[in-house]
Amino acid sequence: MNSRIAAKLASLPRGSILARGMSSSYKNTKVLAGQDKNINTRIYTLGPAAWPVVGVTGPFGTTGGESLWRSYLTGTHALVQKGSVVENPQITLETALLSKWRAEHHPLWRASSEWDERLEPQDVQTTIISSLQLEAYRRLSDYLSGSLHRNGLRPRKGAILIVDVRTGEYLAKVQYPSVDPNMIRSGWMAWDRFVTSPNGYVDSNGQIIDLVDNTDRAPGSTAKLNTIMALLSSGQGKAKFYCAPGIKVNGHRINDFGDAAHGWVDAEKIIKYSCNRGAAQAAQAVGPNQLLLFYREKLRYRLPHMPRPEDNFRANYDKIAFGQTISASLKEMMTTVSAIARGGEAIELHVVRKRPEDVEKWRVCSQSTASALTRYMVSAAKPGGTAYSVYENKVVWPSKTGSAEVAGAKKTDAWFVGFAPADNPRVAFVLWVEEDGTGSNMAKQIGVVPLVQQALDITGK
Ligand SMILES: [Zn+2]
Repeated sequence: MNSRIAAKLASLPRGSILARGMSSSYKNTKVLAGQDKNINTRIYTLGPAAWPVVGVTGPFGTTGGESLWRSYLTGTHALVQKGSVVENPQITLETALLSKWRAEHHPLWRASSEWDERLEPQDVQTTIISSLQLEAYRRLSDYLSGSLHRNGLRPRKGAILIVDVRTGEYLAKVQYPSVDPNMIRSGWMAWDRFVTSPNGYVDSNGQIIDLVDNTDRAPGSTAKLNTIMALLSSGQGKAKFYCAPGIKVNGHRINDFGDAAHGWVDAEKIIKYSCNRGAAQAAQAVGPNQLLLFYREKLRYRLPHMPRPEDNFRANYDKIAFGQTISASLKEMMTTVSAIARGGEAIELHVVRKRPEDVEKWRVCSQSTASALTRYMVSAAKPGGTAYSVYENKVVWPSKTGSAEVAGAKKTDAWFVGFAPADNPRVAFVLWVEEDGTGSNMAKQIGVVPLVQQALDITGK
């Protein structure tokens, strides 16, 4: 972009990006990003904690929410609504400013309009609760700061997503490593370091690499929730499968974590003990085509790494059953978990405030299937279950652990998902940390119990 235009753009009035303060109420809002009138500079009040929501804008570039919501923040949206300018994808604020600048410098070049003088900047109200966002970020960064990825150039990555399952609102959306937008809008060198950082903050188009929307990692055993949901939905909820060394499914020998052999397992034990052989046979009972249909049409997973999903599911349904050879994002896992919490109805997850009637809902499975899965997830959180070490009877929240193998890595990706409380749930959570070990250990170290308790306190008011 022309640097004069960029500077002009950066100095235009701009609406604020708002969060909720310390409660679910929209009465007390907190500014996440706003103009400091005295020094004509954008201020990011939560620093690196709100980065994946807010992004940054400055003379050198714009990304994240600042980019996504720019037509509201700059006020062009309001002008289009009022009919003052025609909505045209070609007419961006930048091209209008460019035209104006040319007109000022080249008398023969007529300005297309003066509408940039009439801009009406609007605030964007996000659903984020700032105190919870900060706490989630603090816990994740405490856990990962000082960690090193096996290639040695950057720390390991992680992300936490907390949602109000009653509304589909994101309450917290954090990722690590993160950057302080106050630092990177300061100059070319800071921006350049940022876009070329091995931490991978932005893609080649300068857009934020959002670890919630685009985790795209194997979900490991958290995917067993989908397998068992499909099994129950196919009317085979009473099926039993045998788990012992040497069991082959789809021509592949299936191994269980820590060489476990679980004997006869039903749907509940597959979730409670996280049994791979049972899950693989459950996927066989459902059938690869039906399982794929369930993923695509009910759960609406995108399956970005599968060029020919029909072939992939036929060849590898046994591994897909326990979340290998398939990828999912935190958001997609959240669709599964929140649908279970909501009695089988999925809800559109969103980060900008919406009227309840505008939030899309769709049925994924029956109420009885969701209730059964809730019971199984509760037993995973009780003694003998894979999530028990996180709770140790202090609380019992429906949960599922995941440890997903990654090619070339010594340690598995750690996943931990669930919702709380078990009856009339209010919040759901998905935690992911790259190459970390078991999901239960990660969740315990990060402190998922006090974090989710804080979310429950806030949403219970
Ligand atoms: Zn097993």
